[in-house]
Order: sequence, then structure tokens, then C-alpha cells
Amino acid sequence: MTFIVSSRFDTPAAQGAGAAFPHVRLRRLRKSPAMRALVRETHLHASQFILPLFVRPGTGIRTPISSMPGCAQTSVDECVKDAHAAAAAGVGGVILFGIPDHKDAEGSGAWDEHGPVADAVRAIKASVPGLLVITDVCMCEYTDHGHCGVLQGQDVDNDATLELLAREAVMHAEAGADMIAPSDMMDGRVAAIRAALDVAGFSQIPIMSYAVKYSSAFYGPFREAAESTPAFGDRRSYQMDPANSDEGLREAAQDIAEGADILMVKPAGAYLDVIRRVKDVTGMPVAAYQVSGEYAMLHAAAERGWLDLERAMLESLVAIRRAGADIILTYFAISAARALAASR
Ligand SMILES: [Zn+2]
Repeated sequence: MTFIVSSRFDTPAAQGAGAAFPHVRLRRLRKSPAMRALVRETHLHASQFILPLFVRPGTGIRTPISSMPGCAQTSVDECVKDAHAAAAAGVGGVILFGIPDHKDAEGSGAWDEHGPVADAVRAIKASVPGLLVITDVCMCEYTDHGHCGVLQGQDVDNDATLELLAREAVMHAEAGADMIAPSDMMDGRVAAIRAALDVAGFSQIPIMSYAVKYSSAFYGPFREAAESTPAFGDRRSYQMDPANSDEGLREAAQDIAEGADILMVKPAGAYLDVIRRVKDVTGMPVAAYQVSGEYAMLHAAAERGWLDLERAMLESLVAIRRAGADIILTYFAISAARALAASR
């Protein structure tokens, strides 16, 4: 980057300090709301928000999630209401997580065509056809041990899991999902899902891959929401070490090679540097997941009167966009969309 400075201050010392004062006064462009809007570099658009929803069997069910104020597990009929609210607010899409009544070692509920996710996809597409419906593909909500794949002893069997993920993805596509989002972090899952979708006649259904997903403490509240806490151990043998970002680029490159259409980084707020690197290196559409812990922290502080929730919400979201994310998965999707509309 080249800076033009006046001759009067064009000395190495002055340049080193970045000092062209008094000619350059950066405050000039901050003087009024209109001036600030004119030079604003990053914008939030509701159409780039995706709202996560937790669906369970039954009707008329809306069970609040205590650690995530405003969020609930719902039955399909209630889920459709949330989808309507999202669409009315201008939110781009929803992503569905299923909570089955029955869990087993294999996670067979994952490909149940009458399970809550499939029913919700059909119901939302029938009722709100313009809203994008994305499905999370993983095994942890469906296995009785809570791990993201089938077990071989105490270890998750990578290659045996791929076939099950592919089966789940094809079932979601058959139900009418607009996009498939695998979150399991098995090696080779994007290729396996792509191949299975293509064979089943869904070559036009894109894959949004949770490419760079960390083993994070910020997922805590989600596990209550999705009832997916592992019964033993943790997910560090398949999710990424929070200390690594070069490895994230390798994960991203791998998923691109396997046919991913959109790459996701998860969580978002503590990984803004990773979002930026993935965007710069790949040039791919990048999504970032502002996870349950990020949402819960802002709510908890706001409840104590320590933060202005709306301002902190919008600032956290614009930071994720500024870091390079095109798409944001966030539990704030509807409230942020409404706040943006009200500020116009
Ligand atoms: Zn999982």
C-alpha cells in the first residue's frame, strides 16, 4: 500500500509515524451518519444469514433451550413457523438439525425418511418455497454414544462412517433439501457424499462443507440443544486443534478437491484469522458459524446489563463479514435481520 504524504511531512521519521497531520484528518469522514455510511467498507445483508433450527418429532412442541435465549427445540409444525419468521425478516435460509426419539449405535435415525429433518424439509419447502433449506449431515444427533460416526472399539471408524453420511445426504436431497452441509469432519466425506448425490440424480445439489471445524469449548450450549454430548471421550480425534490454522488450509484444499461448493469455518468469533486466510487463499464462497457459545456469551452479559445486546450482536456479525465470510450461520439471524431493517 502506498501512502501519499505532503512534502512538508515527507520525511522518513514522519512517514514512519504515519503522520501527515494536520493535512490528513481521518475524523473528517466520521463526522455524520451519512458520511460514515458513505465510506463504510463492510455491510451486513439478511440474505446472507442462515438460521439454525432444531427439529424433533411430535406436534405443537416448543421446548426452550435454557442456555440459548430465544432458541427452542420444535416439532415440525412449529419449525415451519420459525421458517416463516425467518423468510419474513429477509433471512436467506435455515439449516436443520434433527433430534430423533430413538438413538442407536449406528445412528440409523439419520437416514429415516420419516424422521424430523425429512419431515421439516418437506413442510418448509411446501410452505415457504423461496427460503433455502439446508440440512446438517452428521451422525452425532442419532448415535446413542453421541460421536459423529460409527465406533470401532473406542475410536470413530472413518471409512465405515462415509457410507452412512452419504445415505443421510441422499435422503435429505430426496426430501427436497436445497443444500447439504456435512459437519462430521471425517476424511473423504465430501467426495463420498458428492458421488452418492450424483448417482442418485442430485448433481445440482451443492455441498456446504464444515471444512475447518475446531474442537471447541464454544459448542457447549449446542450440545444441550441437539442432545449430542458424547457419552465418553471427546471429538479431538476428528475435529481440529484450536491452535492450528495451516492445517485449516489443508482441510479447505482437500474439500475443494473433493467437490465442496462452499467452505465453512466453525466457530467464527475466535477464528477470524482463519476465516481471512481461507478466503484469501481459496477465493471460495466462505461461510462462518457463529456458534451457540458465542450467542450465549453475549446474551449472558446483556442479561447482567454488562453489554448492549443489539450493538454487540451487530458488531460481532460485521466482524465475521469483515474477516472474509460471505455467509453467516447465526442464532441471531432473525433479530439481526430485523435490526438491520429498522436501521434503514
Ligand atoms: Zn457431529
